[in-house]
Amino acid sequence: MTNDVPTFRAFAVSRHRLMFDGEGVTTLVGGYGCPLACRWCINGVCTDPSFRPKIYTVPSLYDTLKIDSLYFEATGGGVTFGGGEPLLQAPFLAAFIRYAKEMDAPWRFNLETSLAVPPALFDALIPEGIAEADCPIDGFIVDVKDMDPAIYERYTKRPQDAMRRNLSRLAALCPDRVTARVPLIPEYNTEEDCDRSEAELRAIGFSHIDRFRYVTERPSMKK
Ligand code: SF4
Repeated sequence: MTNDVPTFRAFAVSRHRLMFDGEGVTTLVGGYGCPLACRWCINGVCTDPSFRPKIYTVPSLYDTLKIDSLYFEATGGGVTFGGGEPLLQAPFLAAFIRYAKEMDAPWRFNLETSLAVPPALFDALIPEGIAEADCPIDGFIVDVKDMDPAIYERYTKRPQDAMRRNLSRLAALCPDRVTARVPLIPEYNTEEDCDRSEAELRAIGFSHIDRFRYVTERPSMKK
């Protein structure tokens, strides 16, 4: 291993998640940093400059995760990279998955992402022109937000172009590996907007659509 191997900044590593963010038992590796500024974000720590993320090298993260390798193998589970936005650290993800495969780790690799990163970062993990069989990610959970550019920009404070470009790449490469999440976002979109987003996603080739509503208030603690 050479010194130029990238490192990964994580705000959390969460073990023993069952059927929550991928098949089987998974460990969620939460990447620090996010290019979006969503109003109802529940992971504010990801963009808090005072937070000190834990730094992993490829071998140190592998050693951390392999403790659950038997669970992964028995249940068809594995590792889910989330965040924040894990694609901000795409070169690390590519190096890590390559390393784990060299070690014969029988793990599934999932990516929970907004896809809101520049093409060069997306392509660092999913190179242009690869075959689906060579795609390093087994399952994508894509946080689409809303397909309407104006709603998207109002909610995330960023333009939609990067997400759309990278979503097109996935539609062409491996639509059946993608679950597209379409939330009803209080104060930002309506059920009709979600219907339109779902219809557009189906039209470009995605069939796994996850519709749900963001919860923006905690339930009352009164007895
Ligand atoms: S993409 Fe996710 S982590 Fe980033 S600001 Fe939005 S909700 Fe928060």
